[in-house]
Amino acid sequence: MKLIKIDQQSWNTGIEKAKSAYRVFGPVKEKNDHEFKLLEPNEMPDVHCQNTRLSPKSIIYPQSQIMFTYSLDESKEDCRIMKEVENVKSPMAIIGVRPCDALAFPIVRKNFDTPEYQDTYWIKAYEATTFVGLACNNACGTCFCTSAGTGPFGEEGLDVLIIADGDDLYAKPITPKGESFIQTAGWTMKAEASIESRIEELKTSAESSVTSSVPTDQLKNKTTLELYDAPFWEQEAFSCINCGTCTYVCPTCWCFDVQDETHGKSGIRMRNWDSCMFPLFTNHASGHNPRNAKHERLRQRFMHKLKYYVDKYDNGIQCVGCGRCIRLCPVNIDIRKICDKMNNFDADSCVCEATSS
Ligand code: SF4
Ligand code: SF4
Repeated sequence: MKLIKIDQQSWNTGIEKAKSAYRVFGPVKEKNDHEFKLLEPNEMPDVHCQNTRLSPKSIIYPQSQIMFTYSLDESKEDCRIMKEVENVKSPMAIIGVRPCDALAFPIVRKNFDTPEYQDTYWIKAYEATTFVGLACNNACGTCFCTSAGTGPFGEEGLDVLIIADGDDLYAKPITPKGESFIQTAGWTMKAEASIESRIEELKTSAESSVTSSVPTDQLKNKTTLELYDAPFWEQEAFSCINCGTCTYVCPTCWCFDVQDETHGKSGIRMRNWDSCMFPLFTNHASGHNPRNAKHERLRQRFMHKLKYYVDKYDNGIQCVGCGRCIRLCPVNIDIRKICDKMNNFDADSCVCEATSS
């Protein structure tokens, strides 16, 4: 394992050097939470933050994004011609990405970068970015990453993994992009070989701090229609207020709506995050809404993440176990409990009791 040791001073000077080659984002304290933001000169990412309120999803896929501009001025040659907006201008680096959030990018890529359809806005931003991860030494009580295809030291989706041991930091390059970031930061001090066993110790201890275990092994074997018609959806949706928080904070939710905004003779076409939990999400122009009742919308969210995605991609669930939707849902709807019910559902005997915590 190639590991670079970074002392506090080299960390600070390395981040500053990186800012000359990349737009560098990182977690910083904002009021009561940590959020990812573009770091100012001499501003450092907080490597002791447990996790950010929102994932770094919005750096690649902004909540509102202008896609095209147009003119309605008949005297202009380009009247009514949509002109694409260039969104990404320079390389970006996101420091402090937790392994769960990192895994969300390859999951979301399955939607935005397919052989039939390429979302150039997402792809350009993704390809311009170096993901510098931060291993978790202590999981939150709502985390279940080890049930969702990753773990506190998971590397998928990352270019570099930073491991903190007290005040000492270690960088593990994972991809050539990561090597290049480390080189730009000027971090060259090879760690002693003995540190490897210490890192294994930290990893084992971090994994054991993930106390929620959520079984997903039976989801693929279930019949879609039986899960769809399961009797628990109305009960699970009873307290939902359709606020959409769960989808906005989720690093793997990708839905958006497109709208035109015209001011005088100029206009923009933009996209905004949308949510399957909103009643208008599926409202047809005719007024008919195929998901009119809130249990239908809640069912869609969980069926998409835990059944449709599972069947379509054969790549696990469309959830990385970050726990944000559990922590931030105002009425305590818990994906772990619903996943457990779906995984254990038996249509014949109608057994849908949760078995895990
Ligand atoms: S956060 Fe909770 S209350 Fe809000 S839409 Fe999601 S499940 Fe419903
Ligand atoms: S569904 Fe919830 S726990 Fe899973 S990735 Fe989204 S926010 Fe995190």
